[in-house]
Amino acid sequence: MQWKLAATESNEVFPIDTPRWCGHNLELLDIETDDLSFATSTHQGLWKFSPMIPLNDAQNIVSFGEGFTPIILENIHGKNCLLKLEYLFPTGSYKDRGATVLVSKIKELGIRKIVEDSSGNAGSAIAAYAAKAGIECEIVVAATTSPAKISQLKAYGALVTLVDGDRQKVAGETLKKAAHTYYASHSWNPFFFQGTKTFAYEVVEQCNYSLPDTLVLPVGNGTLLIGAYLGFSELVRLGKTTRIPRIIAVQASHCPGLDTSDSRMFLPTIAEGIAVKNPVRKKQILEVIRKTNGKILNIREKEIKTAVKEAALRGYYIEKTSAIAWAAASYLDPNDLNLIPLTGSGLKNS
Ligand SMILES: *Cc1c(COP(=O)(O)O)cnc(C)c1O
Repeated sequence: MQWKLAATESNEVFPIDTPRWCGHNLELLDIETDDLSFATSTHQGLWKFSPMIPLNDAQNIVSFGEGFTPIILENIHGKNCLLKLEYLFPTGSYKDRGATVLVSKIKELGIRKIVEDSSGNAGSAIAAYAAKAGIECEIVVAATTSPAKISQLKAYGALVTLVDGDRQKVAGETLKKAAHTYYASHSWNPFFFQGTKTFAYEVVEQCNYSLPDTLVLPVGNGTLLIGAYLGFSELVRLGKTTRIPRIIAVQASHCPGLDTSDSRMFLPTIAEGIAVKNPVRKKQILEVIRKTNGKILNIREKEIKTAVKEAALRGYYIEKTSAIAWAAASYLDPNDLNLIPLTGSGLKNS
């Protein structure tokens, strides 16, 4: 397949092997192809779908055999929920989907030094895969990030830079650094979404080509939301499924980044992984919600805390950010079959 980097606003395109993560004037890039055709490979885990991923040479794959996380049916508050256990990834969150693809591409491009900013999970994922590939890695995080996440970053050998201030401030500092290295960003870099799209490829196969009614996701920068939608859209184009589940985006009432960027509306939230005030791809996120006839749910801090306990008492040890999707079950339609990824491990914020 002939992949290309395509700017999201202008008509600018770049060859897929150009080492850039944005267009001119910081325009967002997506990855597109005109000749999509379905194939699988004999690789393990999500790399089974390697023919659908824009990497030229399988020798460059940086992988721990990740993917094909289990799907378990549970009844939560009287709602039918298929839980996809995304916290079982090697670094403890689904961010490994994006990291395995992005770092593989970085290796293929011959880039030796990268920078990334993250509340922790995306950073850990990038740091782990960079460690495996022998690529130098700097991760910029807010000084308030939970200690467990910072020690994980350091353990992988990443250079950890702490910034006083919110995610916006951290992103600003990182953009300055990115001018001199390559920005392995989970929100900017389009290769990350080529990894998170495998979520949809797995679901369609695991659900035996019959899809749930909704997909209920914790959303900050929308890396899983946009990736899942991209995957489902490709599968529709390929004739593997006829429809896309309604995508329900869950955010903290304390951080309603999808509704407003008015700073007076924000309070600290325990869902630190999705505490994003102004998502870089907000326009795309809102488009996905609209196109799939989905919606946005706001969850209170108290509901998140209750969900963490409820999930653990049923054997799912997940982090607070992840529990927000469990909490959302209370607001779902009892007639729907809902797919809920449990995105991050409880070991993260102990
Ligand atoms: C990153 C992350 C999410 C979703 O965040 P996005 O910013 O929308 O990509 C959800 N849960 C966990 C545990 C995460 O690490």
